[in-house]
Amino acid sequence: MPADYHTHTPLCLHATGSPEEFVDAALRAGLSEYGISDHAPVGSHYFDDWRMLYDTLPDYFDWIARARAHAADRITIRSGFECDWLPDCASWIEHLRGLQPWDYLIGSVHYLGTWDFDNPKWLGRWAESDVEEVWGLYWKEYAAMAESQLFDILGHPDLVKKFCHRPGGDLRRFYEPAIEAIAVSGCAIELNTAGWHKPCAEAYPAADFLELARAAGIPLVISSDAHAPQEIGRDFDKAIALAKAAGYTETTLFDRGKRCNEPLL
Ligand code: ZN
Ligand code: FE
Ligand code: FE
Ligand code: ZN
Repeated sequence: MPADYHTHTPLCLHATGSPEEFVDAALRAGLSEYGISDHAPVGSHYFDDWRMLYDTLPDYFDWIARARAHAADRITIRSGFECDWLPDCASWIEHLRGLQPWDYLIGSVHYLGTWDFDNPKWLGRWAESDVEEVWGLYWKEYAAMAESQLFDILGHPDLVKKFCHRPGGDLRRFYEPAIEAIAVSGCAIELNTAGWHKPCAEAYPAADFLELARAAGIPLVISSDAHAPQEIGRDFDKAIALAKAAGYTETTLFDRGKRCNEPLL
C-alpha cells in the first residue's frame, strides 16, 4: 500500500487515538510509510477550536517521538503539518517550517475570508451563499496557495464540494486555472479518501480533476485524512483504482522534502 501522509492526532481537539494505536493500524493496513500531519497552530494565540495550540507543540513532538519508538524498524514514520492557507500567512508558514526538519508540509484551503466553509457548524451560511461565487473564490485561493510555493503537498483539492454544493455545467472551468498553477508550482496534490465518508460521497478531488492533474504531470500522494486509528489507509484500494484510471502509475514519497516515487501496485 502507498504511504498515508495526511493523518491527525488528538492535539487538534477533534481526533482520537494514541501514537501506538495509529502505528499498529498503519502496520495492519500494510502502508509503506505513516506520516503524521496534524492541524498546525495559526499564530501563537487561540484560533478556532479545531487545531492544536501553539503551547501544545512540545506534546506534538512527543507524540511523533512515541510513534517512532513504537514503530522501531517496522514502518517509516514521517512528520509534517496540515497548514491553513490564510491571508498573509507566508511568514507564519516559514516559521512552522523552521521548527523541525519536517518531511513535508500540506497546505489546505479551509477558510474563505473568516468562514471555515467545511465546518458543519456553519452549514447555514451555505444556504445564503451563491455557489458559483464561492467556487470561484475557493479555486482562486487554491491557485494562490500553489503559487506561494510554501507547501510540498496541496490538500483535498475540491474540498469545497464537501456538502454537495456544486455549480451547474462543466466544472473544468474551475479546475483548469488551478491545475495550471499547481503544475507550474511543482507541488504534489493528494487524493484524499475522506470525501467518500462525507455528504459529497466522492474522493477529493473528483475523477475529472485527477485526469487533468495527471495530464499536467502533477505528482500524487494518496491519503486518508485519518482522525482515528481505524481510518488509517481507509479506502486505499478504491483510491488506487481511481488514480490508475486517471493514468497515474506512481505516488510520491517525501523524506525531509526530498522526493522519490513508489509504483502504484
Ligand atoms: Zn481535522
Ligand atoms: Fe483539511
Ligand atoms: Fe486533515
Ligand atoms: Zn484535511
